[in-house]
Amino acid sequence: MSEYGVLSSRQSTPYPDDRGRYGDFGGKFVPETLMPALQELETAYVEAKEDPDFQNLLRKHQTDYVGRPTPLYFAQRLTASLGGAKVYFKREDLAHTGAHKINNALGQGLLAKRMGKRRIIAETGAGQHGVATATAAALLGLDCDIYMGTEDIERQKLNVFRMRLLGARVIPVNSGSRILKDAINEALRDWVTNVRDTHYLLGTVHGPHPFPLICRDFQRIIGEEARKQILEHEGRLPDLLVACVGGGSNSIGLFFEFLGEDAVKMVGVEAGGIGLGPGQHAARFAGGSLGMLHGAMSYVLQDKNGQILTTHSVSAGLDYPSVGPEHAYLMRTGRVEYTHASDSEALAAFRQTSELEGIIPALESAHAVAYACKVVPNMPKDRIVIVNMSGRGDKDVQQAAKYLLPEEDFS
Ligand SMILES: *Cc1c(COP(=O)(O)O)cnc(C)c1O
Repeated sequence: MSEYGVLSSRQSTPYPDDRGRYGDFGGKFVPETLMPALQELETAYVEAKEDPDFQNLLRKHQTDYVGRPTPLYFAQRLTASLGGAKVYFKREDLAHTGAHKINNALGQGLLAKRMGKRRIIAETGAGQHGVATATAAALLGLDCDIYMGTEDIERQKLNVFRMRLLGARVIPVNSGSRILKDAINEALRDWVTNVRDTHYLLGTVHGPHPFPLICRDFQRIIGEEARKQILEHEGRLPDLLVACVGGGSNSIGLFFEFLGEDAVKMVGVEAGGIGLGPGQHAARFAGGSLGMLHGAMSYVLQDKNGQILTTHSVSAGLDYPSVGPEHAYLMRTGRVEYTHASDSEALAAFRQTSELEGIIPALESAHAVAYACKVVPNMPKDRIVIVNMSGRGDKDVQQAAKYLLPEEDFS
């Protein structure tokens, strides 16, 4: 039994094991030169986790800076319109910077400081993780360099400016397809060279062990709060949890606390894009296969030669060719069900949530809402569904306008 084996107060699991494996998935498939850095990080993390001073400092920042606990909100008009089970939103969109990513960025930032690092680096695709990391760095007084593909820099100018405003340097990556996966490779290279004073702040539950574990632990607060809150609202646990799955951090954050509750069903929603043909989507469980990417074994979108396929989604945050190894394990064991919502279904849910609830969801989160809209009408009215509202949609209005109002020009 490893020291990570506590699943909840009610159940324990054997994963990840001492090598960071979740069954067949996970591990640390990295060059020899990175092994000491991962080992140092793991040791520091295990110590921090047991240290009440570290936990208190984390709690204090979560409360005073991030604004936790985020509310659990009963979506009354959406519920009435769907005519079935009661729908609640866990409002991560109300966390500082507008999404759940700050939970992980803040936690790892504090860990980096504790380890005596003066600099953090990160990779970003859409820019959301870059902004969360730059925010944590500003708060904690750390230097911050963000690797970003030049293709993404062009597409995400506003987030590039946000990062710079927050005091970070954005380093353009011109190799490969000049997108997220190339930025990750560059960040790993930087880390190998500068590990003595630098922490690599990985943004989701992917990458080599111990990153999937660390990020999951910093996101678990979502489900811990939701559990308490639903008991206050309804006096019982929910019947269904729904969350979108990019790398998998907001979903595991909501699910983890409930994994030991057999009566709570869980569904992860991937990006179905415009169809399930190669290059049209990012539904790794629908169109992927076992493979290794960025240091971990998991489901990967690849061709028969193992070349990584391009992906597509209307939401940049779900647009990644692999998925966190713990999700691969939860899929394989059948504990969590995975499905996908298409671009157009997500856009319809984006509009519906805005009109009925006055909440503009992130396009990522809209994928989870879209699935809920499909199943809720067929569930009895006394059933309870919690949808993770992983982020707010202000960042997405221009993108959504392109699809919803194609005849108008907002550029
Ligand atoms: C980044 C992002 C996601 C996807 O990442 P996960 O690690 O799967 O949570 C989902 N929602 C929002 C709002 C995001 O910014």
